[in-house]
Amino acid sequence: MSQRIIVIGAGPVGLCLSLALAQADVHVCLVEALGDDNFLEQVPRAGTNHPATLELLDRIGLYDKIEPRGIIAPLFHYWDRHEQKLIAEFDHAHLEDDTRFPYVLQCERIKIVEEALKLAKAHPNIDLRLATTFTAFTQDADGVTAQVTNPAGESEPIRGAYLVSGEGARSIVRKELGIEFEGFTYPDRTLNIEVAYDFRKHGYTERNYISDPDEWSNLFHWKGPPDRWRVHFPTEPDVDEAALTRPEALQARLQRFLPTGRDFAIVGSNLYVVHQRVATKFRGGRAVLAGDSAHVNGPIGAMGMNSGIHDAFNLADKLIAILRKETGDDVLDRYERQRRHVAVQHTQAQTIRNKRLLAEKDPAVRRKNHEELARTAADPKLARAFLLRSSLIESLREAEQIQ
Ligand SMILES: Cc1cc2nc3c(=O)[nH]c(=O)nc-3n(C[C@H](O)[C@H](O)[C@H](O)COP(=O)(O)OP(=O)(O)OC[C@H]3O[C@@H](n4cnc5c(N)ncnc54)[C@H](O)[C@@H]3O)c2cc1C
Repeated sequence: MSQRIIVIGAGPVGLCLSLALAQADVHVCLVEALGDDNFLEQVPRAGTNHPATLELLDRIGLYDKIEPRGIIAPLFHYWDRHEQKLIAEFDHAHLEDDTRFPYVLQCERIKIVEEALKLAKAHPNIDLRLATTFTAFTQDADGVTAQVTNPAGESEPIRGAYLVSGEGARSIVRKELGIEFEGFTYPDRTLNIEVAYDFRKHGYTERNYISDPDEWSNLFHWKGPPDRWRVHFPTEPDVDEAALTRPEALQARLQRFLPTGRDFAIVGSNLYVVHQRVATKFRGGRAVLAGDSAHVNGPIGAMGMNSGIHDAFNLADKLIAILRKETGDDVLDRYERQRRHVAVQHTQAQTIRNKRLLAEKDPAVRRKNHEELARTAADPKLARAFLLRSSLIESLREAEQIQ
């Protein structure tokens, strides 16, 4: 039996998994459709890295690479745009006894995969196949065979002991296994505008969640040069993309958000559809789903990439134990029980709640929500409990209890 693990997708999940395996002397074949020529041309996506994720990235030597490229942000804010006021300031310092990293690192996904790819290229246990597209797979009692189209355009089989889909939301592995992707898609798409402007002079911090009955938003700071801020807005379901992303439309939206009277320096924009879905199973025999291939969720609360990376490390430990013959492969069912629980009870539940909170229209409910947030942030005990949940530390502790 081949002892190699085949990982599809060099996104944050596939790369973290490959590095964790390789560093434990497991051989990995990592297949990625993008090549050296276009790997960095990916649309802006995740970027807030929670404390528990930083601990895991540190374990594979990635934290030291990304910290200088990011912004350490101990604070985050909830704002009421309607009333133009700060509702609550949360400080990760409350987690000092819970983590070595009592802050989030604002560092975009693209920088993380760029640095992780360099580590993967340098690791002798990783056979990195860039510009290679996975198309199908079969499995038998001894292993899996992945079918890929290599850079020469030829179809090629790759043999391994297990196959992990880090392919993202459109996972072929999930579809081939006939696993349903349960959940729903929001009718409103999210508009992301990247702008070079220092919002801190208006009281904002590095990470802000802004409630408004008409147009909620998120505001995040990224390290440059030049420093950029990302503003998220909901959009009307029926308006076409070209109309929403015209430069004048983007300027008008930003001016409504913060009327400066001067054009903002817009450095990019994109529109994306938001899904809340969890695969009904995370495993089919020797094929396993991790990250977005297993669950996708809304971006409010920064949980998609983080929980995907948590999947990767949980799975890495189990695959290492299987290959060392310390355990049978039914431990992969425990992976499913643990990580599916987190996807449903934590990432889905919290991101759905977060959106409701920001978009709430009923003035009485809004007032009650805001008072509760302010009370929670002001009480050290409540604030710690809130931060343990929002930073996904609680989800990891809970998963550990699941056998
Ligand atoms: C606009 C936006 C903002 C977001 N913001 C946040 C945030 O602030 N915080 C957060 O935690 N999450 C956020 N997310 C979610 C986050 O980006 C994803 O959860 C994360 O990227 C998932 O990682 P992944 O490795 O599972 O998949 P992906 O990042 O999608 O990577 C999949 C990789 O697989 C490759 N691939 C796909 N198919 C094949 C194939 N057939 N053959 C070979 N290779 C293949 C792709 O090229 C890609 O490199 C956001 C998402 C979006 C869209």
